[in-house]
Amino acid sequence: MPELPDVEVFKRYFDATSLHQEIEGVEVGSTRVLRGTSQSGLAEGLKDRSFVSTNRHGKYLLAHFDNRLVMVLHFGMTGYLKYFKQTEKDPLHDRLMITFANGFHLAYDSQRKLGEIRLIGDEDDFIHRQKRLGPDALRVPLPDFRDILSASRAAIKSALMNQQRLAGIGNVYSDEILFQAGIHPGTKARDLDEKILEKLFESMEDVLEKAIALRADPKEFPGSFIIPHRDGDGKCPRCSVPLQSEKTAGRTAYFCPKCQNA
Ligand SMILES: [Zn+2]
Repeated sequence: MPELPDVEVFKRYFDATSLHQEIEGVEVGSTRVLRGTSQSGLAEGLKDRSFVSTNRHGKYLLAHFDNRLVMVLHFGMTGYLKYFKQTEKDPLHDRLMITFANGFHLAYDSQRKLGEIRLIGDEDDFIHRQKRLGPDALRVPLPDFRDILSASRAAIKSALMNQQRLAGIGNVYSDEILFQAGIHPGTKARDLDEKILEKLFESMEDVLEKAIALRADPKEFPGSFIIPHRDGDGKCPRCSVPLQSEKTAGRTAYFCPKCQNA
């Protein structure tokens, strides 16, 4: 499932391909991804407009038009973007295809249909009042991060994944961040002392920034990351002990029982 690093990579891809180009047409392959807007509403909203800038908050990509409107994309479980020429083979599962005046298309593809597309007028209202998202995990200052986790009664893994507290981290990256910080996923967030919270904060920044630099491609991740090992040899990259998995709140946490003891 696309998490903060994946969506940041989509944002950079969007910026590099789709800004400042006149939109000629819009096709919606499945209306099930539309939220609060109709197929014709979306088509009318986009026609003859162009995107001028983008923002990312947590797992949401917000694309600003040359008027006040903003298109919001959420990538669900498997969503991605593809920019291509007419002559190339089209992606199979288009849910939204924007055609630019230069003959290129931008497709938003969400095969499992859990993605969401919205057209909104007020980004601030959407983030803070409608979705009540916490601060973005890459922009939260350390004191706020400490306050957020100290106030949580949840296990640290759940606390990191709670989008209303901290936006952007999901199942896979919470495992990586906790592994790098040496913290057991089941430890109560408020039981972590100041020093270990600081270490966790540093691990969060390191992991997210490194993942973005490697284009969120797990095949490129260093061997010192736990992500390549959970589906690979199943062993801790540090001590070679078999990784453990545990179900919590419907998600499976992978961790090293020896290295993650805080
Ligand atoms: Zn280990």
